[in-house]
Parts: sequence; structure tokens; C-alpha cells
Amino acid sequence: MTIPSRYKRRVLARLIRSQEGRCCYCKRPFTIGGPTRATIEHKKAKMDGGRDNVGNLAAACFHCNQHRGRQMVQSRMVAKRAGPNYATSAPKSSRGKSAPQ
Ligand SMILES: [Zn+2]
Repeated sequence: MTIPSRYKRRVLARLIRSQEGRCCYCKRPFTIGGPTRATIEHKKAKMDGGRDNVGNLAAACFHCNQHRGRQMVQSRMVAKRAGPNYATSAPKSSRGKSAPQ
């Protein structure tokens, strides 16, 4: 689900006001069209089931938003590599337990 842009702008303005015009991460003040351009950040990522409601949104600067996104992707990749799927991706042994039918 995507947020309609008109609604998005209103929400962003509200978030910025509630955060006193600062990024929720680095606390730098937002400037319109500047290096600390405000973006809507999902506290719980959409790919983790986060919703588009105001309670799950915060205003973050473009830099922090991008940075956080990258971090999440990286931690996800690490989790995937070390996760329960790791063992199953190992080469299958030709002998061992018989498969349950
Ligand atoms: Zn920031």
C-alpha cells in the first residue's frame, strides 16, 4: 500500500512539527530541498509488516532514511546467512536418516 502524496505531505508536516523540525535519528534540522530533506520513515519497516499509520511513522532526513534502509538490508542478509536456513543450504549427505514419508 502506498500513501497518497497529498496525505503524505500533510503527515510529514505533522511529524516534523512534532519532532520540532528535526530528524528522528540525527536530530539535525530539516531544510526544504536541502541536504537534510525530510522523508517519511517507517519505524517498523513495511517489509516487516509495518503499517502506514501515523503511529508507525517518523520524519527522518534523507540520509538517515537511506542509511537505515541499507543497514536493515545488511542485517537481513547476515541473519539469512546465519539463520536456520543456513544448515539446509549445506550439501546434502548421501547417507544418514531416511526421509519421513
Ligand atoms: Zn537524520
